[in-house]
Amino acid sequence: MAVPIMQAVRVGGYVVKQHISGRKRYPLVLMLEPLFRCNLACAGCGKIDYPAAILNQRLSVQECLDADAECGAPVIAIAGGEPLLHKEMPEIVRGLLARKKYVYLCTNALLLEKKLDDYKPDPFFSWDVHLDGDQAMHDSSVCQDGVYDRAVAAIRKAKARGFRVSINCTLFDGADPKRVAAFFDEVMAMGVDGIMTAPGYAYERAPDQEHFLNRQKTKQLFRDIFRLGKGKKWRFTQSPLFLNFLAGNETYHCTPWGKPLRTVFGWQRPCYLLGEGYAKTFDELMSDTKWDDYGTGNYEKCADCMVHSGYESTAVMDAVRRPWHIAKVALFGPETEKPMAPEISLANQRPAQYVYAEHVEEKMKDIAARKKPAKPPRVTTVSGASAQAEQEAVPVDAAD
Ligand code: SF4
Repeated sequence: MAVPIMQAVRVGGYVVKQHISGRKRYPLVLMLEPLFRCNLACAGCGKIDYPAAILNQRLSVQECLDADAECGAPVIAIAGGEPLLHKEMPEIVRGLLARKKYVYLCTNALLLEKKLDDYKPDPFFSWDVHLDGDQAMHDSSVCQDGVYDRAVAAIRKAKARGFRVSINCTLFDGADPKRVAAFFDEVMAMGVDGIMTAPGYAYERAPDQEHFLNRQKTKQLFRDIFRLGKGKKWRFTQSPLFLNFLAGNETYHCTPWGKPLRTVFGWQRPCYLLGEGYAKTFDELMSDTKWDDYGTGNYEKCADCMVHSGYESTAVMDAVRRPWHIAKVALFGPETEKPMAPEISLANQRPAQYVYAEHVEEKMKDIAARKKPAKPPRVTTVSGASAQAEQEAVPVDAAD
């Protein structure tokens, strides 16, 4: 099983409790991005296109723990940017594990071998290594040769030390189902505990805008992959109903509040993928976001989205409502031959709004306002050098 039985029971219990209590919207996974800085610059990434002053910002240990306390989700995925660039990451992880949260630490694994000693295997902890396919596919996706080999070496080392390791595989237009299926065989043979997969979201700030999948292509690609996987023992960390959705068998609407995102900007509206505004608190995010403005059919930027951060929670909630349905899909796998489920109409979606520049400008002003004014130079008879050195101190935010 890709997810330990105890984790499935605890998370399942949490979901059932929310349903029984009648809570309409609740978080399942807290997405934490304590920094945007990364040591790669992938063509399909829309997360790191910020001025240096913003890339140098970090959420502190306390801010991360406070985000957990506010949100209360049973699972926490720490992403970025590259989380292993954050000096206090071991402390953040320890703090969350002490609260018995299931922590997935997402990483491109370039620093994983070096940082492995800072972490301990724990039933609540898993590495989640970014691997977008076999060696050629992944190195092309991250725009750098040699990254796949380093990631695989790190995965092997982490497994040898007793860590749980899953991989996160994002697929783009042009992916060959046979190669993807062979890659899934390969990672299973490597001993990884689970695979998380999804199509890439068409981030407006991603350098490569030509290789994002539309919905029809996504469904066909996953059908073709899952057909090749029949009878194989691929272990996915995702709900079987989410995989069934990817293969075109469910007409799901997204559940953006299921995986709320906290970044250095605040709580991102409406979801992990779209930054259309920010709330200061989790309660404000949940109560003041106009949720009906978003989702496929409602908003142009959502038209092709089929990403787990929006739909995995929908699938989990569907499983509570229709346990017999999930049991069937878990037993026989996603349907790959019958006609697909109807698609959501895009006829009434509202046009895209572009608010990135506004948010960046606001954040830059905020950073400038928080900077301490430089101390006036000390009057000294020796030399001006010491005064100058004082004024050139590295800002705390850039300490990494
Ligand atoms: S469809 Fe939902 S999850 Fe996807 S970008 Fe839109 S709001 Fe976010």
